[in-house]
Amino acid sequence: MLIQYIMNAIITLIIWELRTENPELKIGKESRIVAQRQQGRKRRLSGGVMAHFGVIAGSGLYDIPGLMIKETRTVHTPYGNPSAAYRIGTLSGKDIAFLPRHGIDHTIQPHNINYRANVWGFKELGVQRLIAVGASGGISSDMNPGKIAALDQLIDVTHGRPSTFYEEGKVVHIDFTEPFCPDLRENIFRASEKAAVDVARRGTYICTNGPRLETAAEIKAFSLLGADMVGMTAMPEAVLARELEICFLFITIITNYAAGLAGSTLTTKEVLNEMERSSARIKSLLQVFFDQQFAERRCLCTQALQDASM
Ligand SMILES: [Zn+2]
Repeated sequence: MLIQYIMNAIITLIIWELRTENPELKIGKESRIVAQRQQGRKRRLSGGVMAHFGVIAGSGLYDIPGLMIKETRTVHTPYGNPSAAYRIGTLSGKDIAFLPRHGIDHTIQPHNINYRANVWGFKELGVQRLIAVGASGGISSDMNPGKIAALDQLIDVTHGRPSTFYEEGKVVHIDFTEPFCPDLRENIFRASEKAAVDVARRGTYICTNGPRLETAAEIKAFSLLGADMVGMTAMPEAVLARELEICFLFITIITNYAAGLAGSTLTTKEVLNEMERSSARIKSLLQVFFDQQFAERRCLCTQALQDASM
């Protein structure tokens, strides 16, 4: 009996020593869950293709011609699930991850998109340069249906959308004076010349919450604020990319005149028809864009977190 007691005490002591030396041997429920998550994450990240470029597309653009898909990857993020699985493929020797922001069957409304999960997922896949495409309504007189513009400024009037990765703990205020990567903008203008696809260099996009369209009075007010076009998705996509130091570019296709400017009511059919008409130009623009040589990133986006925390 005494021998049994001494043996049990020795075994208990050995196990305690081992756990103290190596915390991973702790068998607590919480540490087991964390370890499993970490292992799962390592498996996902090391198991598949990484991509340095990302494309997030909206209404009417569901693929990029020439993108040879190598893998379809489901990514789980600390912020929930992205809109769909990422399709990763190669085009002109570049690995590109593609995501439809409204989901595969276009069922996710702009205010319900999990923007944080979408952008975080790109980061997990290794994406450093993200190109976003979306439709918008033209406000200024030069923004007619069919026009393509690379945005240079933003006004955000959305509400209730989680728009930061720094909600608690560390207080971070990133600089957002120039919300879009200047280098990617230059790359798209070079591509536009080669592809002979006209892309406007200027565009202040006002982002509304939706899903309803705007009133005529709102559009009049937005015009006075300096907005050139109105859409529902560029924010918080742009700021979330900047918080993760990802270069971000937003190309918009003007699909209709904004409310009150055309003298008639707006329909989604009008938007989809124009997207269909313009998608060939967007696709050839993207093909030429990815055909370019990209230098190492030296833009402001790569240092977004420097001197940004309190
Ligand atoms: Zn950049």
